[in-house]
Amino acid sequence: MKVGVVSLQGDFERHALAIRSLGLEAVYVREPSQLALVDGLILPGGESTTMLRLLDWEKMFDPLVAFAKEKPLLGTCAGCILMASDVASPEQRSMSVMDISVERNAYGRQVHSSIRRLDPEPAFVERSDPGPLEAVFIRAPLIRRIGKDVQVLIADGSDPVLVEQGLHMAATFHPELSADRRVHKLFADKIRERRPSS
Ligand code: GLN
Repeated sequence: MKVGVVSLQGDFERHALAIRSLGLEAVYVREPSQLALVDGLILPGGESTTMLRLLDWEKMFDPLVAFAKEKPLLGTCAGCILMASDVASPEQRSMSVMDISVERNAYGRQVHSSIRRLDPEPAFVERSDPGPLEAVFIRAPLIRRIGKDVQVLIADGSDPVLVEQGLHMAATFHPELSADRRVHKLFADKIRERRPSS
């Protein structure tokens, strides 16, 4: 099983390490032709406006939307912004592969980062392990609205921070920056369920 990591900008290296630490193969995806090689794909954190520009430059935006119809995506932070159905503050184009509305940099200019220990929801724990999860937020977006088919896997108070819809997962934090591998493992399980034989 191969897990792609979109590697145009941002924190792709740490995602690849996380995937490898699970004994899986990570592939740096930098052009559309490489999408055919992978069974699932991670959109890392970074700067979503820059990523959007680079995806356009590589002519990868539409192929990514097409990929998402067939195979799982995990978007973290900027990746979550790219997957949303609408983006505010400021508005920008997005892939609309998850029925969520996000507000960029919603935690304000003063507090760019924080690390919080959050208790996963039962929907997460029943497919993973219990116990609080360390969540690293860096100039994080806020999920302001979730559609009816979106399930919250981890919340910070009333704010969803890890959500799932069908094949896909999106996090407003950076699971690749913590030692805890539960989010990547859950994503790998989703890819495995999707594959006809493995
Ligand atoms: N603030 C960034 C954006 O709007 C996201 C930050 C991140 O990915 N850590 O794209």
